[in-house]
Amino acid sequence: DTLINQIAAGEVVERPASVVKEIVENALDAGARRVDIDLEDGGTRLIRIRDDGGGIPPGELPLAIQRHATSKIASLDDLEGVATLGFRGEALPSIASVSRFAMTSRCDGADHGTRLEVDGGRVGELAPHPHPRGTTVEVRDLFFNVPARRKFLRAERTELGHIEEWLRQLALSRPDVELRVTHNGRPSRRWKGEGTLLTDVRLHEALGEEFARNALAVDHAAAGLRLHGWIGRPVYNRASADQQYLYVNGRAVRDRSVAHAVKQAYSDVLFHGRQPAYVLFLELDPRRVDVNVHPAKHEVRFRDARLIHDFVFRTLHEALAETRA
Ligand code: ADP
Ligand code: MG
Repeated sequence: DTLINQIAAGEVVERPASVVKEIVENALDAGARRVDIDLEDGGTRLIRIRDDGGGIPPGELPLAIQRHATSKIASLDDLEGVATLGFRGEALPSIASVSRFAMTSRCDGADHGTRLEVDGGRVGELAPHPHPRGTTVEVRDLFFNVPARRKFLRAERTELGHIEEWLRQLALSRPDVELRVTHNGRPSRRWKGEGTLLTDVRLHEALGEEFARNALAVDHAAAGLRLHGWIGRPVYNRASADQQYLYVNGRAVRDRSVAHAVKQAYSDVLFHGRQPAYVLFLELDPRRVDVNVHPAKHEVRFRDARLIHDFVFRTLHEALAETRA
């Protein structure tokens, strides 16, 4: 089983940033309002993530690290309309098979926390452990038992950079959640939970003052689709596609067709080789989009891709035309 989990880890766990992503997504699925992330050596030595979410009953802790044990969907029908970030039940077993892993959790009604350690896939015993309501996951020495993967880890700065970029992506979509990051014992980043929709403050923090100043708010709904967020005015454009954030039903994804629609809306006004900047949220009935395309869930498949492309194109084209009128 450890071997199967390690193979799955090859798809889910690419680097420390993917571990942070999976564990923070679990915290959000558990309703956390605050997530503390402690890192050492770019996450390669330690990733410790504590949340104040609902926690896990002691009896279910061993399930959490079992393959394909997810508490989030019970049937194929649920998968069709999945609303949580996780649903495959393979992140934790994968991570636990390639690290020194520990999970401590306490749920409402329990009078103490419970801890479970897993060392390179070998599962230990449940033990009582003090913990406030919520969950802490610790991942030490990532890939210590998979030298071929360990070799591909990059310098501390690079790995930290990937983690911070992913957190920025998250911070843009979840301004209601407070995120605190420390690196090697020093505070490195803090996103306050403003408790409201995306505020100018957060936009400003994430993408810089210049983007915020040139951002045009968009919000349009039709045919069961809604597109909202911010696009940079044409004067604010980039040499690279480094400020393009797309979320589908709250999940950050890459999508060629939507990216193309945005680019096309800009095509009259951007010089050759320039890239638009945007933070866009597309919302639609979860049944119209398949999120189970890739283990890391970076991609989605739309049932009516053509319609969505045209909707995005028309919405942005109109918004941009108004800026010139
Ligand atoms: P998935 O998220 O796809 O369900 P994971 O392997 O990421 O699978 O997690 C397995 C299960 O462990 C989840 O379905 C959830 O029940 C439980 N779990 C994991 N992390 C947390 C957390 N921080 N708080 C509460 N429950 C958690
Ligand atoms: Mg998960």
